[in-house]
Amino acid sequence: MAPKKSNAKSNAKNTKESTQNAATKSGWLPGIFGSLQGSTTSRTSADASKRATTGTADKANPRVSSIKSTQKSTPKSTQKNKPKIAPSIAIMKDRLEEILRHQQIAPEVYSARSRLIQTTVLQHSRAMADENFSATSVADLRLMSELYDSIYFDSSCIALAKHYGMAFRWSSRMTRAGGKTTRTVRRATIRRAAEIHYEITLSSSLLFQTFQEDSRPIKVCGRPCHHRLEAMQRIVEHEAIHLAEMLVWIDSDCAAGRFQAIANRLFGHTEHRHELVTQRERAAKLFDIRVGSRVYFMHEGHPVQGVVNRITRRATVLVESPQGEMYSNHKRYLKYYIPITALKLVARN
Ligand SMILES: [Zn+2]
Repeated sequence: MAPKKSNAKSNAKNTKESTQNAATKSGWLPGIFGSLQGSTTSRTSADASKRATTGTADKANPRVSSIKSTQKSTPKSTQKNKPKIAPSIAIMKDRLEEILRHQQIAPEVYSARSRLIQTTVLQHSRAMADENFSATSVADLRLMSELYDSIYFDSSCIALAKHYGMAFRWSSRMTRAGGKTTRTVRRATIRRAAEIHYEITLSSSLLFQTFQEDSRPIKVCGRPCHHRLEAMQRIVEHEAIHLAEMLVWIDSDCAAGRFQAIANRLFGHTEHRHELVTQRERAAKLFDIRVGSRVYFMHEGHPVQGVVNRITRRATVLVESPQGEMYSNHKRYLKYYIPITALKLVARN
């Protein structure tokens, strides 16, 4: 949501069907309110083909796949036949724009719908044990998004995106943004036409390191959340608006008035940020390590001392060295990326 820097590059783990509670397993960590994802980005062509492969993951989940298949709008064979489907695309787009511009949902209706979506996702998920799940899957994310599409957008949002290309993904490397929606345009070449592709990614690391024991109260998009499933819903709601705006107007910015008005009318969102626990917050809470902390760690059998410069999935530690890069304070530093658990605070005198 709110546009802070995010690191959403794809890695092998993200494409796995089941996303485990990585934060719990590896014990890494960090701080302060993150953003649910800023203005949604339109990606350039370079990584389009790679990103398009992630949608295959939920084939391993027959129960969810069978549900999903009933909601599929347009078979591939007809998608290629542009003259036939063009009118329905135009109708879906008009309907979506109408909903975005005018739809208003009463709070009690929103609450009932939220519970219905929760129950349905839990019933059909093969990975989620309960509302505070410690494993989830691409199929769960897809199912939830499709439920929102059918309940809130008259099945005209995801279906429209699928006409172009739509994928869902979990990322363990997004350490600040709770979610991210991308619109990738691959330019036309002599051999093929231009391609547009949409992708919604949610941060598994943020969700899993929040709602642990003795968790502080959590709000996402201004709404209090009591468990991971609720937080996931708020992020999906937010990203669904990004997707819908992109489909209708191409641009989407959650810091802008139009986005915020839609988010408030449909979902009662009052903010475009999340308060999920970030690595930086966990590092400070559990290890007392912050940006600026003096730390040491073992490197090739020797203790090395440096200063924490950044905390994302790992800490970036700057170690003074004549071989390093020159920094603005005119000193040279080598950069090390170290898991928080491998750092020790240097005692202050
Ligand atoms: Zn956003």
